[in-house]
Amino acid sequence: MSSTDSPDVVLIGAGIMSATLGTLLKELDPTLSVTLFESLHDCAQESSQGWNNAGTGHAANCELNYTPQRDDGSVDIAKALKVNTQF
Ligand SMILES: Cc1cc2nc3c(=O)[nH]c(=O)nc-3n(C[C@H](O)[C@H](O)[C@H](O)COP(=O)(O)OP(=O)(O)OC[C@H]3O[C@@H](n4cnc5c(N)ncnc54)[C@H](O)[C@@H]3O)c2cc1C
Repeated sequence: MSSTDSPDVVLIGAGIMSATLGTLLKELDPTLSVTLFESLHDCAQESSQGWNNAGTGHAANCELNYTPQRDDGSVDIAKALKVNTQF
């Protein structure tokens, strides 16, 4: 049986969550076979589509790109605090 007949991981929906989880799983174990199902004609056409969620703003909670890791391993939260305060 090929890996596509019996994948290690099945992801339903080609939005940002499946993209993120699939990427993280492959980082942890590059040998994993992943099959993704999407019911629409293309990926990221629902909530993850920029025009469907942009402009509403957010409080910068859990935004990894707002909390970069420094060379010493500590996390810089200055940007997250600034955006959160502005929000
Ligand atoms: C108005 C609005 C504003 C937002 N603002 C922000 C913000 O400012 N900051 C922020 O971080 N987040 C924001 N979000 C939230 C963010 O957009 C969503 O949490 C995120 O995009 C969800 O990603 P997802 O992959 O779970 O879902 P989706 O992107 O919706 O992906 C789900 C996919 O699954 C597919 N699917 C569904 N059922 C099936 C099935 N049975 N079989 C196959 N495929 C299926 C769908 O077609 C879709 O492509 C906002 C959301 C909305 C709606």
